[in-house]
Amino acid sequence: MNDKTYDIAIIGGGPAGMFAAYYASLRKLNVALIESLPNLGGQPQTLYAQKEIYDVAGLPKVSGTELVDQLTNQLSLLSVDEYLGTSVTDIERTDDVWKISTNKVEIITKAIIIAIGNGAFKPRKLTFDYDPAIEDNNLSYFVNDLNDFKNKDVAVAGGGDSAVDWAIHLNEIANNTSIIHRRNKYRAMESSVDTLNASSVEQLNPYIIKDVTFNNLDDSKIDVLLKKIKSDDEKTITIYKLLVNYGFISDSKILRDWNLELEGPFIKVTQQMETNLPNVFAIGDIATYPGKLQLIATAFAEGPMAVTRALRNLYPDKDYFEHSTSMFK
Ligand SMILES: Cc1cc2nc3c(=O)[nH]c(=O)nc-3n(C[C@H](O)[C@H](O)[C@H](O)COP(=O)(O)OP(=O)(O)OC[C@H]3O[C@@H](n4cnc5c(N)ncnc54)[C@H](O)[C@@H]3O)c2cc1C
Repeated sequence: MNDKTYDIAIIGGGPAGMFAAYYASLRKLNVALIESLPNLGGQPQTLYAQKEIYDVAGLPKVSGTELVDQLTNQLSLLSVDEYLGTSVTDIERTDDVWKISTNKVEIITKAIIIAIGNGAFKPRKLTFDYDPAIEDNNLSYFVNDLNDFKNKDVAVAGGGDSAVDWAIHLNEIANNTSIIHRRNKYRAMESSVDTLNASSVEQLNPYIIKDVTFNNLDDSKIDVLLKKIKSDDEKTITIYKLLVNYGFISDSKILRDWNLELEGPFIKVTQQMETNLPNVFAIGDIATYPGKLQLIATAFAEGPMAVTRALRNLYPDKDYFEHSTSMFK
C-alpha cells in the first residue's frame, strides 16, 4: 500500500480526469490520477486521435491527439501523481478516508472523482472466427495511425456516426474507400450522411460481413466476404485494411458494486457533481443529471465544480474560490 493520503484521487485519465487533476493541483490539493490504459487521453486519444474537434472553446480546430498533448502539457506544469496502466477495481470507505483497490497498488484518499467515461474501451468485434494474424495489419477496431490507410484500398464496417465519419475522413487519404452497413439507412448525423452521399465512398448496403481471409494471390491483402441482407447474393471485396466500427462495450458495470446511485450505466450527480457517497464525485461522460451533454466542453466545466465542492468539504476554512490569474504563482 502507498503510505500517502491524497486529498483527491481521480479515477480515469480522459479529458475530464486530466483537467480535473490539473485544476485540483492548482487549488493546492494532493492529487492522484489513475488511468487503466498505459497513456492518458481517453476517447480523443484512443478512439479518434486524428479526427478534428470543432467545439472546444478557444480552439477553432484541434485533433484528438493535439488536444491530449495540450492537456498533458498543462498537467506537467503542476504536481500530480500519475498511476498509468492501473485499473481501479473497488472503492471502500474506512475511517473517514477512501481505499481504492487497483490491479497494482492501493491508494488512500480523502475524496474521489470518478471520471471513467464509458468505462474501459472494448470494441464490439466481428462475431465469427478469423485468423488472428489478420488483426496485425489488415483488420482494426481503432485508428491509431492514419498512415496505415494512406493510398490503400480500405473499407469501414458500421453505420453509426463514427463509421460514417471515418469513411469520409479516410476517403481523403485512401486509394479507394467503401463503407459496409447492414441497413440502407445510417445512424449518423444528417450532415455527415449528406457528405458521405456526395463523396466517392462506395456504399455497400445492406450487406453484412460473413468472413475475412487472407487473399490467396497477395497475402498483404484480405478478402472480405459480404452477404446481402434478405438475399442469397454474396460478393467478395479485396482490400488492404478493414476498419470495424461496431461501437464499444462499456464495462462501467463495476460501478454496480460500489453502492453508487446509478441511472442506467451513468452515475447520478447533483449540480455540484456529488454522488450519493460522501466525498465521491463524478464528472465527464459517466456523470448524469437533467440536461447533461456528453461533450468535452461539459467535462471541462464539471472538474472545477467537483474539485471546489471537495475542497469545501475537506477544508472548510480555506478560501472557497479564486481565479487562476491569482492562483498560479
Ligand atoms: C468518435 C467520437 C467523436 C467525438 N467527437 C467529439 C467532439 O467533436 N466534441 C466533443 O466535445 N466530444 C466529442 N466526443 C465525446 C468526447 O470524446 C467525450 O465526451 C469525452 O472523451 C469524455 O471525457 P471523459 O474524460 O469523461 O471520458 P473518456 O474520454 O472516456 O476517458 C475515461 C478514461 O477513464 C479510463 N478508465 C475507465 N475505467 C477505468 C478504471 N476502472 N480505472 C482506471 N481508469 C479507467 C479509460 O481508460 C479512459 O481513459 C466524441 C466521441 C467519440 C467516440
